[in-house]
Amino acid sequence: MQGKIVKGIAGFYYVDVAESGIYECRARGIFRKEKQKPLVGDNVEIQVLDEKEREGNLVKIFPRTSQLIRPAAANVDQALVIFAVRQPDPNLDLLDRFLVAMEQQRVPAVICFNKSDLEEEGQAERLRRIYEGCGYRVLAVSAKEEQGIGQIREILEGKTTVVAGPSGVGKSSITKLLQQEISMETGEISRKLGRGKHTTRHAQLIRIGSHTYLMDTPGFSSLTVGGMEKEELRQYFPEFLPYEGSCRFQGCVHIHEPGCAVKAALEDGKVDAGRYASYVSFFEELKEKEKRRY
Ligand code: GDP
Ligand code: ZN
Repeated sequence: MQGKIVKGIAGFYYVDVAESGIYECRARGIFRKEKQKPLVGDNVEIQVLDEKEREGNLVKIFPRTSQLIRPAAANVDQALVIFAVRQPDPNLDLLDRFLVAMEQQRVPAVICFNKSDLEEEGQAERLRRIYEGCGYRVLAVSAKEEQGIGQIREILEGKTTVVAGPSGVGKSSITKLLQQEISMETGEISRKLGRGKHTTRHAQLIRIGSHTYLMDTPGFSSLTVGGMEKEELRQYFPEFLPYEGSCRFQGCVHIHEPGCAVKAALEDGKVDAGRYASYVSFFEELKEKEKRRY
């Protein structure tokens, strides 16, 4: 049978098989010998050992289309990053860090601003203008009023999506709404997964439709930029790319160089000042890290 690993804990892999539910599986020695570590999100073949107890063995991992490092997961198609329009006010430094991390791992990101019902001064529109201007898809929704949830559902359909964002922005509220339709069906899944032996939070996939999975990540409050040279950072600000090659100096990092096309675009208001400030601050951070390395 074929299925998808939705959770991995202490040598056990929980494999969701369409139409028949979750099996608790162990990886056979062959994976250890080949140094192949199964990941949440892997599409696998299993051999059922005990149908009643729903236990089996992993026998094969199908080739991965992608591999995320943080959180560790295979075959992730996209990320949905959720912030609130207000309460808490969106921390755009944190959002920009997250977007850089996704660009670095080549995972397309969709940005969702929740709590649009609390909006007072057109915050959602302002945020939309900034991030759509960078080429991101931006949604303004309200879990409270169930506004825009259908739009999220459309974006998620048929894909595996990592859901991220700081705590308090409404991630669980949105996930609950998305799960509602199949909550009957997932009763069985929760029973098998919820055996409560373990307390640490692990990456886990939740099926919200046929072949549609969400990966819940713990809420984060900080992220560091890393795993790259500072000269690489500019590639991860997609709104800079149209100007790449138009600066006076080749290899311009768009900070102090004269004749910089990105800085000219900033002056013209074509590049957002807040985004540019994030760029400069992340660049400095990478520079500091480099100094410490030598
Ligand atoms: P999480 O920490 O990101 O999972 O956030 P929760 O889903 O737990 O929501 C945090 C708080 O915000 C709760 O009190 C929710 O009732 C509230 N909340 C969630 N979505 C909305 C929304 O769209 N509008 C308003 N006004 N409050 C919301
Ligand atoms: Zn430049």
